[in-house]
Amino acid sequence: MKTIVIKIGTSTLVRSGAIDDQFLRDLAHQIEILRGEGWQSVVVTSGAVRAGLNVLSRERAQNLAEKQAAAAIGQSLLMRAYRRALGDEGLHVAQMLLTRADLGDRRRFLNARHTANQLFAWGVVPIINENDTVATEEIRVGDNDTLAALSGLVVGADKVLLLSDVDGFYLPGKNTPEATIEAITPEIEAAAGGAGSIGGTGGMRTKLEAARISTRAGCELVIAQGRATEVVLRVARGEAIGTRFLVSSEGRLNARKSWLAHSRRVEGTLHLNPCARAALEERGSSLLPVGIEGVEGEFGSGSLVSVRDKLGEIGRGVVRFSDEELRRIAGHKSNELATILGREVAPEAIHRDEFSLS
Ligand code: GLU
Repeated sequence: MKTIVIKIGTSTLVRSGAIDDQFLRDLAHQIEILRGEGWQSVVVTSGAVRAGLNVLSRERAQNLAEKQAAAAIGQSLLMRAYRRALGDEGLHVAQMLLTRADLGDRRRFLNARHTANQLFAWGVVPIINENDTVATEEIRVGDNDTLAALSGLVVGADKVLLLSDVDGFYLPGKNTPEATIEAITPEIEAAAGGAGSIGGTGGMRTKLEAARISTRAGCELVIAQGRATEVVLRVARGEAIGTRFLVSSEGRLNARKSWLAHSRRVEGTLHLNPCARAALEERGSSLLPVGIEGVEGEFGSGSLVSVRDKLGEIGRGVVRFSDEELRRIAGHKSNELATILGREVAPEAIHRDEFSLS
């Protein structure tokens, strides 16, 4: 079976504060039809915070604690609504609550994959959301567009569909959305801007980030209007609707490298000298301290960092030294490291197996 991740934004799911059951019935019907066409579905749902606030007749959450508490109330309402809607189609649902800390840990990430696979084997539809009640800033994905793309990595999706209150991605001055986007250029990034809707966290910026993650992993991502007729069916069937971000032509990253680059938070930046890029991009070498000119951020050995030069990001990788050690050995040759650090060390700042090109 092919796999589609369907992300439902808050503004699509929730109407005047309450969960829109008619929308969910319609979605459930499309998911059921798709099964007959060889697609298994995963839903990434937003709306827990919004639905929870509605129960208490509150407009917005004032702080993180209120947001988390509202999510705790709303999440069970979401599941009840999905269970009813999909149940009417004869389908079972399962709840998977994830955080970045879960996805960033290779073992937990693989556990989530095994769980999803078992659910698929049983014909059950996984309903994913962030585990908002425990997710503080450091361990949150933070928005469900990115969570949908990461969920796509978890299940090895063929398509990710972001259902939203906009009907696609617009370039400035155009009054129709772009039908297809082949590469996320600086022009596209500039057009993305910032804002999201009330109760939702996304906006075009997070949708682009999601598109970057998915398309590099070999999975097409589509942004479409959630209330368009049979939108899920049409996207799965490959009809032209919304904006399609095509699989990156720069070459598909293998699943592990996609996970490596995106599942964790970037904790620092290494600035390289102008000669280092070719070694990483063309020769696939490990990064040695001699190529590093500057270190930004505070991080320990084993953290994920962004690797850049004046032209931009080259890739991301897991460092074998802390920021403090890297500052001392930056620019130095491999045979000088032991003397500087006072212990024997492997020469790579980032090993090639732990590095993923952007
Ligand atoms: N996890 C949040 C919720 O269920 C939504 C995050 C988002 O809107 O991107 O309310």
